Amino acid sequence: MADSLTRILFQKLVTMSGDDYDEGELIIDRGRILEIRSGISDSFDGVTHDRSDCLILPGFVNAHCHLSLSGLKDKIPRQDRFVDWIESVVTENRVLPWQDRVEALHRETRTMVESGVTTLGDYFSHPELLVEYQSLPFRQVLFLETIGFQSALAEEKTRQVESLLEKYPGSGSRIQLAVAPHAPYSVSPELFKALKKLAVKMNVRVSCHVAEDEEESRFLSRGEGEFLGFLEKRGVYDHQWVPPGVSPVRYLEQLGILDHLTAIHLNYLDELDISLLAGRNASGVFCPGSTRWFGRKSWMPVRGLLDQGIAVGLGTDSLASNESLSFLREIRLAEDMLPDLHRSEILWLATIGGKQALGIEKFGLEPDQPADLIGFRYQNCEVDWWDIPFEADRSKVDFSMVAGEFVFQDIEIKG
Ligand SMILES: [Zn+2]
Repeated sequence: MADSLTRILFQKLVTMSGDDYDEGELIIDRGRILEIRSGISDSFDGVTHDRSDCLILPGFVNAHCHLSLSGLKDKIPRQDRFVDWIESVVTENRVLPWQDRVEALHRETRTMVESGVTTLGDYFSHPELLVEYQSLPFRQVLFLETIGFQSALAEEKTRQVESLLEKYPGSGSRIQLAVAPHAPYSVSPELFKALKKLAVKMNVRVSCHVAEDEEESRFLSRGEGEFLGFLEKRGVYDHQWVPPGVSPVRYLEQLGILDHLTAIHLNYLDELDISLLAGRNASGVFCPGSTRWFGRKSWMPVRGLLDQGIAVGLGTDSLASNESLSFLREIRLAEDMLPDLHRSEILWLATIGGKQALGIEKFGLEPDQPADLIGFRYQNCEVDWWDIPFEADRSKVDFSMVAGEFVFQDIEIKG
């Protein structure tokens, strides 16, 4: 963290929470924003970084990823059935050498940083990797992914999660741990309830993959289909389980999980589902690249969620179901898949929406907030600011800063 005052001169700064500034300066004190103003002071007692040819935005938030699966890049074939894809991921993940897993995690972190990600929401299931995550230049919400469809496992699984939460309380640091029961087809009602109870006790966020695949809805409504076969074949089906006969969202409402849930995917929703999500202050994370990779015909009705006041963020998901973790690619895919959203709204999803979806209370470029920001150099001052990140030849941001420190610079330094 910088120990003296720093200022960044900019062409334009958009806070994404209501304010724009032109030809001004942003002053940072010990990693936090002290002041933003249009116009430049004659004298300044600190370090000046001249980025007066840049647009500054809050850093991007990759609100859903499985960074520890990055070593599976190009190893998982597309499959007709979702359960066959899961089978491939489980098999390949089991034999992935540890060194490859760690190297891929750091390599793909670079892609994310260069494409403007400053905050990461990640599902992970290897506590041994925490030491690697601690070295990454992101603000992070790390969801402890938990699987267990047999109710007898609920107590032991919950105890494991609790001991990790106690070991790494994380409050005040850049990393917050949180809880992720994996999905309605892979977690027993008992485990869902126990993890929710634990999350309330420890005051941490809960996230879950919800309504990702049509077969999930079929399994919950009638207890049949590909998931039944999959769980039985793996010997992990629970014959005591009674299909709830409702949609994934209504099932989670019945279990008491929906309140402030970070729900990933939400591809198959009806009006009642949306109003339940809104009523419970749940949020959604839309994963454009992953949704397209699977060739899904239906995906999150983002406009409908936003109209109900539901926070929505964007996520890359993992490289087991996406070609890249570049967030600049992801916002272009989002634009392509969400034609009823303006580019400025896509950028809101990529920044403020993502933080809200992760339950991060401090967000936006405002005084006293952490200086997590990205810069885009541009020459043509006639261009609308929201078009700049979408420019076709742009594969990187020009600089990126977390807590007032540069984590990436791809820019010829002026002066
Ligand atoms: Zn996922």
